[in-house]
Amino acid sequence: MEELHSETQQTEPEPAPKIIGLTGGIGSGKTTVAHFIEEFGFPVYYSDDRAKAIVNESEDLKIKIKELLGEESYDENGLYDRKFVASKVFNNNDLLEQLNEIIHPAVRIDFEDWVKKQSKYLVFKETALLFELKLNRQCYKSLLVTAEDNIRAKRVMDRDNKTYREVEAVMEKQMPERDKIKMADCIIYNNTNLEELKEQTEKVIFAIE
Ligand code: ATP
Repeated sequence: MEELHSETQQTEPEPAPKIIGLTGGIGSGKTTVAHFIEEFGFPVYYSDDRAKAIVNESEDLKIKIKELLGEESYDENGLYDRKFVASKVFNNNDLLEQLNEIIHPAVRIDFEDWVKKQSKYLVFKETALLFELKLNRQCYKSLLVTAEDNIRAKRVMDRDNKTYREVEAVMEKQMPERDKIKMADCIIYNNTNLEELKEQTEKVIFAIE
């Protein structure tokens, strides 16, 4: 008798994609690199953008954030009031830490759900805090975008219309580049132009095995 194949045969489950943590300090060019990565056909999860969305999407988060910082954390339309929240946590590290303890696990779960929907063998997670939050431990490889401090400062001053002092203040709060360079598996040096940045990006991502 002929064997029935179509319904009885088991298909091998797809292997889970390898997660590459993409990071860099302010103005390093990590978002630009992330866009190039998407152009090369790989999916990118933008942690910061998702965090901004989740605080409005999740009822559970809304309740927890209001409990921590007050009803005014959300405006009359029920939307997260970024300015109010920033004013509450500014110079209050304890509150900031508690807020992060609410938001970061929600982003992690959102990311895990996102990964399950991906079909490429590599996926990228863009986050400024890859090493600071030790998220690199959950990644197959870390990819750092870095550039000289003065180049990064100039780019952010042009992009955001900020003063050198304002950009420097952010840099001083971030992990120094030399520490990140020691920890990263792959490094893109973004000290020249966008063409070279794209070429380097292509080389690095297609060399990941
Ligand atoms: P942030 O952490 O502040 O969001 P980022 O690391 O995501 O910064 P980008 O936004 O990608 O950095 O880059 C900062 C600015 O510098 C952008 O305006 C971008 O277009 C520009 N830029 C990045 N790389 C280059 C380059 N090689 N040549 C010219 N401009 C660049």
